[in-house]
Amino acid sequence: MTAKKLKMKRKLPRSESVTLLRRVREIMAGEAFSVQERLDKITYILLKELKGDACSVYILRPGNILELTATNGLNKEAIGVTRLHVGEGVVGHVVAQKEPLSLSCIAKHPKFILHPETGEQHIQGGVATVPLMRDNEALGALSIQATRRRRFSPDVLDALETVAMVITDLVTVLLNEESQGNRGQGKSEREIPGSKILQGIPIHIGLAEGTAVIHAQKVDVPLMMGEDPLKEQKRLDQSLLAMNNDLEKLLDETQKNDLPQDQQNILETFQLFAKDQGWINKIRQAVTSGYTAEAAVQKALNDIRTRLYASNDLYMRERLWDFEDLACRLIQHLQGGGEQKDLKDLKGIIVVAKSLGPAELLEYQQHDLRAVLLEEGVQTAHVAILARSLDIPIIGRIPDVTTRIMTHDKILVDGKAGTATVQPSGLDEQEFYERKIKQDRVIEASNQALELSPITVDGVRISLNLNAGLITDLDQLQKTGADGVGLYRTEIPFMMQKEFPDVAYQTNLYSDLYDRVQGKPLVFRTLDIGGDKVLPYFNRLNEDNPMLGWRSIRIGLDRPMLLRKQVRAMIRAAKGDQLHLMFPMVSEVAEFFEAKALVKKELDREEGLGHLTPLEVKYGTMLEVPSLVWRLDQLLPHADFISIGTNDLFQFFFAVDRGNPYVAEHFDTLSPAFLSLLKTIRDKANQHHCPVSICGEMASRPLEALALLGLGYHTLSMGAMAVGASKRMIRSVNLKVLEDFLKTVIPLTIKTTRNALIAFSKDN
Ligand code: PEP
Ligand code: MG
Repeated sequence: MTAKKLKMKRKLPRSESVTLLRRVREIMAGEAFSVQERLDKITYILLKELKGDACSVYILRPGNILELTATNGLNKEAIGVTRLHVGEGVVGHVVAQKEPLSLSCIAKHPKFILHPETGEQHIQGGVATVPLMRDNEALGALSIQATRRRRFSPDVLDALETVAMVITDLVTVLLNEESQGNRGQGKSEREIPGSKILQGIPIHIGLAEGTAVIHAQKVDVPLMMGEDPLKEQKRLDQSLLAMNNDLEKLLDETQKNDLPQDQQNILETFQLFAKDQGWINKIRQAVTSGYTAEAAVQKALNDIRTRLYASNDLYMRERLWDFEDLACRLIQHLQGGGEQKDLKDLKGIIVVAKSLGPAELLEYQQHDLRAVLLEEGVQTAHVAILARSLDIPIIGRIPDVTTRIMTHDKILVDGKAGTATVQPSGLDEQEFYERKIKQDRVIEASNQALELSPITVDGVRISLNLNAGLITDLDQLQKTGADGVGLYRTEIPFMMQKEFPDVAYQTNLYSDLYDRVQGKPLVFRTLDIGGDKVLPYFNRLNEDNPMLGWRSIRIGLDRPMLLRKQVRAMIRAAKGDQLHLMFPMVSEVAEFFEAKALVKKELDREEGLGHLTPLEVKYGTMLEVPSLVWRLDQLLPHADFISIGTNDLFQFFFAVDRGNPYVAEHFDTLSPAFLSLLKTIRDKANQHHCPVSICGEMASRPLEALALLGLGYHTLSMGAMAVGASKRMIRSVNLKVLEDFLKTVIPLTIKTTRNALIAFSKDN
């Protein structure tokens, strides 16, 4: 329950709240007090000002235990004695939920537990409890109780939340002091001699070495209560202006440096967040109610954190990092400096952060940025999209990375393995350099191979195409010599918008793509949203299994206007040209027919309007749901082409989440079972003379691509970075020999053919 939802009974007059805050400020300013004394005094003042009968502070101790640390009104002997688990009792419940709670009668709450040693049996009326929050972690709780039944008003909760921020700082100091006192007795991470390898989730591959810079996201807010709201308001306005000017400058800079349009779009979206009126109004309100401008920014961020963290919507949670970045910038401006760190003299920066906003990444990129290590971070975050297109290795979800690495630590990063070696040993370094030299050689050789044709030793020409999503990906078409775009993921440009792009916007975008491919084939995949691909403006359902849920063509058929408008834009962009259309996640042949019928309606409509229509429309489908494999005789006579999405096909075939690191190693795309499925599809496509390609990640890994060639797949689509290596592999292989070899491994009862394929590639 949030403060706003609570019914108001007794409003705390502004003058009272100002007095309360002033008195708390005086306690904080008094240097003579210890932390414990300050907590005692603050609970006393709250008790008096908020007219309660007991006011207490609980602190989280190791083992998820909450300990009564300060109280006025309960028995003082219970301090340090009363302990409860997180989730236990009303206080434990508030800490577990990380939400404030106000009840008219504590004893009626199902979680209520009586702790007789506190003397609570006499105080079983109203209660208001708020968690002590720091970085979305609850460090404890602050609670006020009454003997009689009454509901504390939202203003009391608001005042408690304000004071809770002050207490949180005190608790942090207390915990730090305690841990300093314990130092030397307990085991620390750094006692382990030699290097330490941290494991995360690969977001973008690459080997990098450098020096750690811990991204200082947290800015201290020394003063919570302001003397003069008008003065604070003015400081806030000046700093907002300065921050926006800085962002403007950054954008100018990136434009000067020819940053591709889609990366500029990310920055522009970030700038829009900076001007978000909801966020700014929240800060203004907090300033009006007596906070310093810095504390108001922090409070607004805390509110947003609580709201966004609770969201099941991945996109919304990722936007939190944008707000974290903005809050940090704004506080720095309020404290007199926009610059974060002097990075000028640092060579080879490895940024280590809890999370990173896109603007921050670009700022670091203006220095010698080599890699990024994040505690959070997933594939679809803005920062991940940017890092990929800037070709910066990035690893996400490394637990506690910001505390396990220190600034100036030397780090070796392996983006592909998702590992960061901290303070490497001589042996680690030697092994790393050897790998790097090899990798650089491979990159060099692959780059050279780009100019060559992908023809096998026995003269078979393989078609290599690109997977694209960013407009700039298409620039790679000429550079790599790829034959066309085998998969254009239309959802990617949608992800960078603030609302559904209209037909005109989409027509422009798709026309631009046609211009860029310069006559080479371009395969559009209609919107593949849902699952892990979230649009900020599209209301997501709260699904337990979004990957198996309302996504892709299922949405397109249930919301036909969405699909029709997209197709309309494609038809208009393709005027006089060929339009290759492909539908994602088709599970039943009927869905393919339905989607085709929608396109036909649009074609008729355009013709009716006298618009120029495409020269020809080729209809295809992704094959990524296993059910369709058993309907190929019904599907293929009506499809102009199919493309296999091995990423999804594999996850549904083996029932293995494609993004889950715990099961990533359990099954292999090179298992005889999966290869045999791919062979069945290939045979059926041959039988029906239907062109088939592979556009999943499998095609972009040379060893897997080798197996695909051996199964008879001669059209592959992959990320631009993989083309060079694929060409080299293709040019070294005798297809006939490879095909015969594949026939011998598929019947084997082994878990994977990987080793057999490696041996084959070495011998041939
Ligand atoms: C696939 O599933 O293999 C595919 C290419 O689609 P996506 O990765 O976009 O889901
Ligand atoms: Mg897919």
